[in-house]
Amino acid sequence: MTNIQFFSGEQIPVEMHKVKILQKLHLPPLDERLAAIASAGYNTFLLNNSQVFLDMLTDSGTNAMSDHQLAAMMVADDSYAGSATFTRLEETCGKIFHKDHFIPAHQGRACEHLLAQLLVRPGQLVPMNYHFTTTKAHIVRMGGVVVELPHEEALDPESTCPFKGNMDVEALRRLLEDKGAENIAFVRMEAGTNLIGGQPFSLANLEAVHHLCREFGVLLVLDASLLADNLYFIKVREEACRDMSIGEIVGRIAQSSDVIYFSARKLGCARGGGICTSEGKVAAGLKEMLPLFEGFLTYGGMSVREMEALRVGLEETLDEDMISQGPLFIAYMVEELQKRGVPVVTPPGGLGCHLDARRFLDHVPQNHYPAGALAAALYIVSGIRGMERGTMSEQRHPDGTEPLADMELLRLALPRRVFTLSQVKYAVDRIAWLYENRGLVEGLEFVEEPETLRFFLGRLAPIGDWPARLGRALQESLAYSTL
Ligand SMILES: *Cc1c(COP(=O)(O)O)cnc(C)c1O
Repeated sequence: MTNIQFFSGEQIPVEMHKVKILQKLHLPPLDERLAAIASAGYNTFLLNNSQVFLDMLTDSGTNAMSDHQLAAMMVADDSYAGSATFTRLEETCGKIFHKDHFIPAHQGRACEHLLAQLLVRPGQLVPMNYHFTTTKAHIVRMGGVVVELPHEEALDPESTCPFKGNMDVEALRRLLEDKGAENIAFVRMEAGTNLIGGQPFSLANLEAVHHLCREFGVLLVLDASLLADNLYFIKVREEACRDMSIGEIVGRIAQSSDVIYFSARKLGCARGGGICTSEGKVAAGLKEMLPLFEGFLTYGGMSVREMEALRVGLEETLDEDMISQGPLFIAYMVEELQKRGVPVVTPPGGLGCHLDARRFLDHVPQNHYPAGALAAALYIVSGIRGMERGTMSEQRHPDGTEPLADMELLRLALPRRVFTLSQVKYAVDRIAWLYENRGLVEGLEFVEEPETLRFFLGRLAPIGDWPARLGRALQESLAYSTL
């Protein structure tokens, strides 16, 4: 992927790949979209994909595979135990992450389940740069407490800080000194911090955190699910790494992590997950649990075909063209929205473009879920499906009170190599229209609210009849002949 300067002076991200297989898309008409979002309880998770035009819900399991990945799937070695496919994947993981053990799992949260069950005792703390939904749920389930030590600008939606995913190292030192290593289950660093807009950490910050962990005898666990984007940002934003190859940067990251786990639904453009470590006791503990929760040691819940695709996908992640495609498209989308005055998270991160719903819908209070309302509204006006990353994605306290999220974001994921630039332009255009008409959008309230991870299956209702009014405004807007 290259950002090519055009004759006009404009910088345009140009794909260094071509489309070989395609899926036909369908843009349902406005009346169908209004009916679909109502029957989905105004929760974009509950829409069927057939009702969606551009699915920007997530990059999880939706990245485009390469021809080499598809070809590798055809030579997968099907066996329950001792499959040659597993041996090949194990070798590749060893080569890339420089760890002695690879423990396969069916997806990222399965790694989190195993690690939390093995390492977290009730009352122990887990300091991290920022939490992720499933990570936190698994730690809390084991009686652990998540302590976030984010960079001072991490939660500032408008920033120029290149590494908003950094951990506050001084705060970590104070915590380790105050609480003592015995009260810390492990320290967790998340690459490309998901919930604050796909923001990276720097290699220097990871190394400083690991240094402290060594000093206090605490394990550093790296969530590498969004490592591909983070690698790109280290390469282009961190002066000291400019001349390093992607493989060398991964090597340095691995040296500063005791346990590395990832969702292969993101990293490696396949499906599945895994944990890499050279900590013998941790590996032994994980391997003991694996057959109970995931599957035998040589597949861990993954199909052999997915394991082959993952092996090739991980190797391809070391290619600069491959890892830059997502961030360059996202930067383009963020900058085009900024030109139109739309509030977005800056600097552009990985994973997707994040609309700042708190500024976008500044008349909707946080307990009326502005980011959720914005997700429903964008679907109505465009057929685009995004994901609420705000108060709806938080869990109620045991006493029933509702914590308000630090940020109210509508995440528009750009799965790697899936969308074209004209589709991104369509999204920008409809978001700009919605911003002009934002006064029409009001909040949502829960009508069915699950206790755990309520954002997945919860059902909501609009406060007032704003969806219908929004639809009428779109219909009346002369600018659009296609609704
Ligand atoms: C998606 C994700 C996970 C969970 O992975 P799944 O494969 O969806 O279970 C964990 N951590 C981060 C940072 C993620 O983005």
